[in-house]
Amino acid sequence: MNSDDIRRKIQDAVDAGFDAQLATTADFVAIPSTRGAEGPCQDMIADLLRERGYEVDDWHINVEDLKDLRGFGPIEHDFSKARTVVGTYRPATARGRSLILQGHCDVVPAGPLDMWDTPPFTPVVKDGRMYGRGACDMKSGTIGALFALDAIKAAGLKPTGRIHFQSVIEEESTGLGALSTLQRGYRADACFIPEPTGGKMVRSQVGVIWFRLKVRGHPVHVFEAGSGSNAITAAYHLIQSLEQLEAEWNERAKGAPHFGKVSHPINFNPGIISGGDWASSVPAWCDVDCRIAILPGWSVADCQDEIRRHVAAASRNHRFLANNPAVVEWCGFLSEGYELKDSAEAEAAFAKAYDAVYGGPVRELAFTALTDTRFYGLNHNIPSLCFGASGAALHGFNEYVDLDSLRKSTKATALFIAEWCGVEES
Ligand SMILES: [Zn+2]
Repeated sequence: MNSDDIRRKIQDAVDAGFDAQLATTADFVAIPSTRGAEGPCQDMIADLLRERGYEVDDWHINVEDLKDLRGFGPIEHDFSKARTVVGTYRPATARGRSLILQGHCDVVPAGPLDMWDTPPFTPVVKDGRMYGRGACDMKSGTIGALFALDAIKAAGLKPTGRIHFQSVIEEESTGLGALSTLQRGYRADACFIPEPTGGKMVRSQVGVIWFRLKVRGHPVHVFEAGSGSNAITAAYHLIQSLEQLEAEWNERAKGAPHFGKVSHPINFNPGIISGGDWASSVPAWCDVDCRIAILPGWSVADCQDEIRRHVAAASRNHRFLANNPAVVEWCGFLSEGYELKDSAEAEAAFAKAYDAVYGGPVRELAFTALTDTRFYGLNHNIPSLCFGASGAALHGFNEYVDLDSLRKSTKATALFIAEWCGVEES
């Protein structure tokens, strides 16, 4: 077969398997794999890999093993059930380049169910879309990569390079799942992560810092209020002040490579607020969990310092906080930004795959969110591409993946695997 024949056969095989791919995707989306509850998803992936004859490595993650590694972020919840699953394909004789394919199976919380048109963990296919929490981010991508490998096989081919298919957790809060695969020793000549990027390749992505503002004071009855000891209103003061820090950082981002033209690359988000105990008690405590982005090349430690100093300064000119300074705690991501580099070969292989499916040069993206690519790229200089389908409402309500875009991104993934690892007739 010449390479045009190979490409056509693989794309036809993706089409032929697409109904089965959607059925498996729906089964995967139906598992409510929020943080700490990813076990059944990992079971399903391990089974799918075993059925297909991959060598399966399924282990519990020990946080102690990861603490000193670059990009580690602290874990606060019960991590005793945390697992990573890797399925490995080894060619009889490895002649091609090796590849890591990675997907995360954790999803963000669904929020109030009455804000969904259909239940988040009952996937619904309608008007060329699949709806459900994680349908887009990124369960359809993970299953797509598995079916991309299936398509190569169904086309009568087998890859000539080693492939690790990695299903990880924690992508939405620390990235420790991806980090655990590197700690375990998995390496390859390139990594490919099929996150839903809207058919664009991520050129550069932000880093993210999670922190918690802890405000504490003395509880009093509301009739004594007026003394300015309300922890919730004090927390509001800090939130507003941090919006100034966000503005400063966006100013700093102007002219930065790739992000210079993005209008607001740094987003500060107070994401969870909790505080107080009773409507007639002045709240003595308030916690606000926050997220802020940083750009590639910015030091996480320096930015942490700046956040701490900013909160201290904002506390000094506030009646309540001056005597009860807020504490800043790190509660998740401590992630650097990442820019693709030393990746010419991988990009060239991907460009061929992309052109065969979409036609034309690869469209690129400066991504204002993060992906796990950073660990492979920054920690081990493994060029790490991120590319996938289109959809909407990731982290929102009525999340969906566009199925036509998924079919195409699955084809591009399969062709990239064939191009990168090489294939031979089986
Ligand atoms: Zn994702």
